[in-house]
This record gives sequence, C-alpha cells and structure tokens, in this order.
Amino acid sequence: MTGTGGGGPTTERPFLQLEGLTKTYGAHRAVDGLSLKVSRGEILALLGPSGSGKTTTLRLLAGFETPDRGRVTVDGEDVTSLPPARRRFGMVFQHYALFPHLDVGENVAFGLAERGGRTGRVAEALAMVDLAGYERRRVTELSGGQQQRVALARSLAPEPRVLLLDEPLSNLDPALRERTRRELREAIARVGITTVLVTHEQEEAFDLGDRVAVLNGGRLEQVATPDELYDRPASAFVAAFVGRANELPGPLLGGKAGARAVVRPEAMRFTAPGPGSLAGRVVARRFASGYAFFTVEGEGVTFEVFAPHDAARVGDAVHVTVDRVLLWKEPA
Ligand code: ADP
Ligand code: MG
Repeated sequence: MTGTGGGGPTTERPFLQLEGLTKTYGAHRAVDGLSLKVSRGEILALLGPSGSGKTTTLRLLAGFETPDRGRVTVDGEDVTSLPPARRRFGMVFQHYALFPHLDVGENVAFGLAERGGRTGRVAEALAMVDLAGYERRRVTELSGGQQQRVALARSLAPEPRVLLLDEPLSNLDPALRERTRRELREAIARVGITTVLVTHEQEEAFDLGDRVAVLNGGRLEQVATPDELYDRPASAFVAAFVGRANELPGPLLGGKAGARAVVRPEAMRFTAPGPGSLAGRVVARRFASGYAFFTVEGEGVTFEVFAPHDAARVGDAVHVTVDRVLLWKEPA
C-alpha cells in the first residue's frame, strides 16, 4: 500500500493525525497537547514509562475516551466524536481475552456483523496471521503466541482502517516474546495496515516501529526513527530511555560549570592516562555476551563503560576517555 504523493512518510498527507489531544482525569493531565502524524501503512510505536499516557492515547484513538481538546482525523475525516464501532479501528489489548468456550473461528468471527461472507473472511484473517486452517481448534489448545495471533486475526477480520495494539506481547513469557514479536511484525507487514503500537519496552518499540514517539508525563518528547532517536536524542530523558546513558559534570569534558554531558557507555573506553582522561576504579562488572558494563567510580561520579569483558577487572585502577558526548545539558 502506498500513499498518493509517492514521497517519503514526511511528504505525503498523513493518513492518521492526532492534533493537540488533551485528556484530564480530575486534576491529572494524562495526555497533554499530543500531536502526531502517521502515514498510510506506517507502524508508529508509542514508547514511554508506566503512566506516561500511552494507553489513554490509544483509548482516545479508539474512541473509548473523548478528549477535552484536540482531534483525530483518518484519511482526512474527523473521527473525534464518532463512537468506536464507526471508526473502523481494530484493537488488540494487553489482555487479549479470547473466549475459551468458542473455537478459533468463532473467536475471529466475533467482531463481524453480517453473516454473508463471514466464513471466507475468517479464513482470510487467519491466513494473515499464519494460522490458516485453525478454525475448529480450541483456543485453550494453542500456545500463548498463537492465542495472541488469534486476537490479532479477530481485530483484522472486519478490515479496520487502523490497527491499535496496547502492549500486545507483555502477557507472554520472555522466551515466546521474541518469536511472537517477529510473527506480529510479519503479519502487520503482510496486511500493510497503518498501526499504532504501545509499549514500555525500548527493544520492542525499536524492532516494530518505523518511527517511535517517546512520551513522558503525557507529552511528546520526540518522534523519530529508531536510529535517529538513539543517535540524536532531543533530551536527556530520551537518551536514557532509549538506551543507557551516563551523566557527567561538564567541566570534566571541557564544558561549562553547571553543564552536564550525557555519554553512552559504548562511547567510552579504557585508555592509558593522558590529557582529558578520567581516572577511576572499577567497582562492578556485568557481562553482556562477550562484552561487559563496567561500573567505574572516579572524579566524584559513578559511570558505566561498555567494553570487551576482559578489558578490566573489578578493583582495577583505570583511565577512561570519552569518544563522543551524546548531548549537553545546559545549566538551568
Ligand atoms: P500508560 O499506558 O503510559 O502506563 P495511562 O495512559 O494508562 O499510562 O495513564 C496515564 C495517567 O493517567 C496515569 O497517571 C494514570 O493513573 C492516569 N489515568 C489513566 N486512566 C485513568 C482514569 N480512568 N481515571 C483516572 N486516572 C487515569
Ligand atoms: Mg498502558
């Protein structure tokens, strides 16, 4: 599926648009002036810590909540005051709640109103999630990952315009999660549907999202491709949330008094003592497949260095150089 402009995601008219969405519960602003554009066929991941407003945003999109301010448009149509059923959005919740007394086919058919063509549509939806021929299987016989795909097929069966996924993998144990994530990615690609996915896990957002929107306290911190977010975070919050980040006093790295330098552990390395190197002692080491995170104390701070696992030992006196400062936090 391609847009009308033929250009990249930023040049064509957005298929789904959120404009200044705001939702307050009592005195608490759960979503605060959120604006986002999603291109046709794009997967946008909403990433943020617990309580940052991800689920509320998804519920505003689905129509289960009404915003205090702002609007939602799909393909140019304002859907802000439409009830959920008339938006033609598909949704998969964190607890995807299949009906255990119904078989797979009946579960998938659940959201289909009309009887005509139902059987064919169920078969199509099951094929999309790579479960062709599973109609008569009992839901309780399926693995967690397969159940998750049945829930996805159920939401895809009515041919929604937009797919909304709220933490779709968080119910699965870690061993299943990676494989199911791959299957989910393949199913979404097969359908080519415009998707908004909510997750609090950076790896999941980066793996599934064409772009990732980072939320913090109901506000948008940054929206960008995974590579841009990692290499050019707009704030120290984003830097720390999408990877590991050290904060060092600016003057240690030639910056102003009061400024802080944000540095990734992999942008630091052990060196011989020299101009600009930081002196410290290794106080801990944590393995990461051939490499390790070394906790170093020195120069009045504690920071992490990512280096080959045998680069130093706990207790060693070391010197560290910084190859690159990710961003500078100016004094307040
Ligand atoms: P997330 O999905 O990112 O964890 P939520 O959107 O669920 O965050 O919640 C954002 C904030 O809004 C939280 O502080 C939460 O407690 C609050 N909130 C969400 N839903 C309600 C509600 N129905 N009533 C009151 N407060 C709510
Ligand atoms: Mg949530």
